[in-house]
Amino acid sequence: MVKAVVGANWGDEGKGKITDMLARESDIIVRFQGGANAGHTIVNNYGKFALHTLPSGVFYTHTANIIGNGVALNIPILTEEIKSITDRGVPAPRILVSDRAQIVMPYHILQDQYEEERLGGKSFGSTKSGIAPFYSDKYAKIGFQVSELFEEELLREKVAGVCEIKNVLFTHLYQKPAIDPEELLAALHKYKEMIAPYVCDVSAYLAQAIRDGKTILLEGQLGTLKDPDHGIYPMVTSSSTLAAYGAIGAGIPPYEIRQIITVCKAYSSAVGAGAFVSEIFGSQADELRRRGGDGGEFGATTGRPRRMGWFDCVASKYGCRLQGTTDVAFTVLDVLGYLDEIPVCVGYELDGKITTEFPVTAKLEQAKPVFKMLPGWKSDIRGIREYENLPENCREYVEFIESQIGYPITMVSNGPGREDIIYRKSVLQK
Ligand code: GDP
Repeated sequence: MVKAVVGANWGDEGKGKITDMLARESDIIVRFQGGANAGHTIVNNYGKFALHTLPSGVFYTHTANIIGNGVALNIPILTEEIKSITDRGVPAPRILVSDRAQIVMPYHILQDQYEEERLGGKSFGSTKSGIAPFYSDKYAKIGFQVSELFEEELLREKVAGVCEIKNVLFTHLYQKPAIDPEELLAALHKYKEMIAPYVCDVSAYLAQAIRDGKTILLEGQLGTLKDPDHGIYPMVTSSSTLAAYGAIGAGIPPYEIRQIITVCKAYSSAVGAGAFVSEIFGSQADELRRRGGDGGEFGATTGRPRRMGWFDCVASKYGCRLQGTTDVAFTVLDVLGYLDEIPVCVGYELDGKITTEFPVTAKLEQAKPVFKMLPGWKSDIRGIREYENLPENCREYVEFIESQIGYPITMVSNGPGREDIIYRKSVLQK
């Protein structure tokens, strides 16, 4: 049984918490895309952790945690992250890295920084983790697969070839120092030693696991609106954030993915540039940001304050549709308990008409939000375990949003911990 946990929106929906929670009943957790550019925050009995590269199953001793071929693998960050959790008392996790995963090279990180400097104010809000140059090189067919670290002659040749291209860019376009091929090769030798204990033929491993009836959890990073095809291009990430890509980025048949749990947060937040129709500003935004998530809405990787907004039914309906949602996990609902009234964006005003279909980027920039006010519940809902015990206005908020997006909300998260979850049967469930 393969399940995917993915985001409906701009990321930071609380996927880490849901994955950590579901990992208890899973055998294998797989990261299938993205890199160390975004983070998941997880709160459990070992403490609070921000993971960037490790799958969110690493806190259990019964799980295998896989970095799939679709991931942008930053080897030093992976090694540091393993150390950072084991230093805090977490038992050494079982980690497998695909021999086909490609490596984020030191020059990708430099290129990302140089490009941001060059663009100045017109930048895309990159986290400068080398992700965009990494994926460009992957598709330009000058990337390095993990398996190539173990082929010395090939490695030497490829390094020389790539340095030729990169050094034209570095010295001429960016006016920066050239890369020394020998230094680069030495770094790759170190990478080889660091990664050797984890390398695995992941697709073969997963094929066997599927035959053995294991439960596999695909863990997505970011959300639909950051997908390079279906998101707010060009303000997107460089790898697909959709559950469908889980099949490719892990190396399994698409029809094996039976459950797609799309995570939606009870309000909106976004990082980086780009249109954000239900965005709010000023003291209203500051208050939601301060109260949001678990200790405020600030980036897990960058510490940047997130942009804040009300729940957006248009974006979330679209986000759920593209994921192929079977279940919605509705998170961080507890945070809204302070509000007298809660605005919800139910439509976009565009060219004098109201639409509930998410438009292409050029149109999105012109869209104005249409808000509906729902009554607040003015109480703390943390600790409640039964859906019926939630305040009536709170249930109405959940049910209103469910009816707008059209996908069943089967889980409601009312706190950051593993146990802060309410399961419910939705009228939309088949
Ligand atoms: P991810 O990237 O989708 O995993 O999301 P993040 O980890 O960046 O952001 C989610 C934040 O919300 C984290 O700080 C979580 O601990 C926290 N969180 C998750 N679910 C809940 C919830 O139901 N209530 C509260 N208050 N915080 C939550």
